[in-house]
Amino acid sequence: MYDVKGNLREVLSHLPQGVRLVAISKYHPNEYIESAYAEGQRTFGESHEQELRQKVETLPKDIRWHFIGHLQTNKVKYIAPYITMIETVDSLKLLKEIDKQAAKCERVIDVLLELHIAEEETKYGLTPDALRGLLADGEWRALNHVRICGLMMMASYVDDENQIRSEFRLAHSLFDEVKAQYFVDCDYFCERSWGMSHDYLLAVEEGSTMVRIGTTIFGPRVY
Ligand SMILES: *Cc1c(COP(=O)(O)O)cnc(C)c1O
Repeated sequence: MYDVKGNLREVLSHLPQGVRLVAISKYHPNEYIESAYAEGQRTFGESHEQELRQKVETLPKDIRWHFIGHLQTNKVKYIAPYITMIETVDSLKLLKEIDKQAAKCERVIDVLLELHIAEEETKYGLTPDALRGLLADGEWRALNHVRICGLMMMASYVDDENQIRSEFRLAHSLFDEVKAQYFVDCDYFCERSWGMSHDYLLAVEEGSTMVRIGTTIFGPRVY
């Protein structure tokens, strides 16, 4: 088995104070999650509703689960009762559905707005202008069962450090822009979720507050 504990300690040793780790456990078995849990890790990320449901049913109840995959509106009702944070909100429609399902559960669900900055066409998320449009539209203000806590993004999967860095910088400047315009008095709007296994050290240098790391901790995923 992978040295999950050793890898986790190694990753944590690189994170400055104020940067939190979401251990991305998708496609990894419960044993790996339990191993990280035994080391004190409590926040895990998953990208598929059914896989997540099975893990929630069998793993410790004090785990905080983040949803990090593309979320279809018809799946929101399944995760609404327990999810800690949905990091991948990329439309007003999805935001409204989360609000509706959260209201049914008498909860407020924390969410991040997902940015699309990377070159890859397959990535989901809001372009900078779509992000501005969604916030300018103002309908989100009436949604009392979601709390927008910041932005999430994935950089392009490339070796060029300068490109990755410039994408993180653009995300950070968008964060500053919308913070100033819409969330200046909201302490909870503080999360910049960027950095994965191959680029988290750069992400931390560029102001990430939350890194999402799978492979470096758990090894390659077996699909
Ligand atoms: C899978 C995934 C990660 C983790 O990727 P690794 O390269 O394994 O660290 C991070 N963020 C998102 C959105 C993911 O889907």
